[in-house]
Amino acid sequence: MKFSVLTLFPEQVKRFLGESILGRAEEKGILEIDAVDIRDFSGNHYGKVDDTLFGGGTGMLMQCEPVYQAYLSVCSGDDTKKPHCIFMSPKGAVLTQEKARELSKYEHLVILCGHYEGIDQRVLDEIVDEDISIGDYVLTGGEVAACVVIDCISRMVDGVLPNSEAYEEESHMQGYLEAPQYTKPNIWHDKAVPEVMLSGNHAKIKEWKRLHGLYDTWKRRPDMLEKLDISAEDWQKILQIEREESEKRKQVPPVDE
Ligand code: SAH
Repeated sequence: MKFSVLTLFPEQVKRFLGESILGRAEEKGILEIDAVDIRDFSGNHYGKVDDTLFGGGTGMLMQCEPVYQAYLSVCSGDDTKKPHCIFMSPKGAVLTQEKARELSKYEHLVILCGHYEGIDQRVLDEIVDEDISIGDYVLTGGEVAACVVIDCISRMVDGVLPNSEAYEEESHMQGYLEAPQYTKPNIWHDKAVPEVMLSGNHAKIKEWKRLHGLYDTWKRRPDMLEKLDISAEDWQKILQIEREESEKRKQVPPVDE
């Protein structure tokens, strides 16, 4: 899968995405991530790409033409193969796992990053297919947001993680959160790993993970659980976990004043 990030700060994007899992996927040729410097398309000696706002207001706005030329530079020229173009914006729909899964189906995504006050609306109207936000807050630029989007999409691209199980069982993939996880040693600070984890009984472990995932979702994100059709039987089991957890809490010795 190919990503073309249009940005005024290509190094920021490259530095983040060149490391770890995504860096290795790029080396293997599974991902291609290009960071295109919009300033290269300024058309002037100073690399100036922004100007003051019409109608007044603080700050500078990125101009149409450099953004447009940067966009054209990553298009093949074949109109039937126009890449899907995303603008990172606090005005967009907030990114979800479902949205990331949908975007992972595209062969080529162009991700446009604003900076300063943002970008002149006219070029956005001409090239952007959809706006995406990473949350209801404002950043100084779209670069960090673009990295979040690319990271989230990439782990679902075939070959980036060892197998699809590595991401299908994560939080949010099935509408609920992942159960707690444990590794060695078996006992740490007097806390033991749940017995079932050491039992080798795969069916039991799977059921434990499912129920504890639902339990954690109920405690942390009840809004997510509302969207799932939880059976009466599962509710009984979730409430049983709640009783066990509250017993455990009672056993913790009180802290000395
Ligand atoms: N004037 C704009 C904010 C500009 S912030 C407004 O009020 O809507 C500068 C740039 O940072 C934006 O153009 C966008 O690309 C990026 N950005 C800021 N917050 C973001 C968010 N929550 N999600 C995605 N991109 C964001």
